[in-house]
Amino acid sequence: MKKESLQSNQIIYGNKGNVWANTCHIYQSGIGNLCRTPALATNWAKIEMVEEIGCPKCLQLFQNQELWNKQPFLERLIFLANKCNLNEDEASILAKLNLEEIDSINRDTINIAITNYLSKFIA
Ligand SMILES: [Zn+2]
Repeated sequence: MKKESLQSNQIIYGNKGNVWANTCHIYQSGIGNLCRTPALATNWAKIEMVEEIGCPKCLQLFQNQELWNKQPFLERLIFLANKCNLNEDEASILAKLNLEEIDSINRDTINIAITNYLSKFIA
């Protein structure tokens, strides 16, 4: 996959070994490499202007993110509630949430939080 397909908060990342082996990762701000490989050293993928993402796990996680982003907002909210093992109080608060309120006040914030949260464990 070409790096042009990445989201605006993602860049290609690779050490010398990744550049040589065509296994460069997807680095997302606030998270790191999607596959959780530590990004500790100089970004040689940037220096060498590598175009192609090659890490299979990062590519799979990116595809999962794309699928997730196509889900309706309410579906994401319910999925997240299930994943978070909300207690009764929290669940009842969520149940009372008025979607129109979310639309006008917090929708973007919640969406970003959910997406960031899920990108950490969807595999
Ligand atoms: Zn990776």
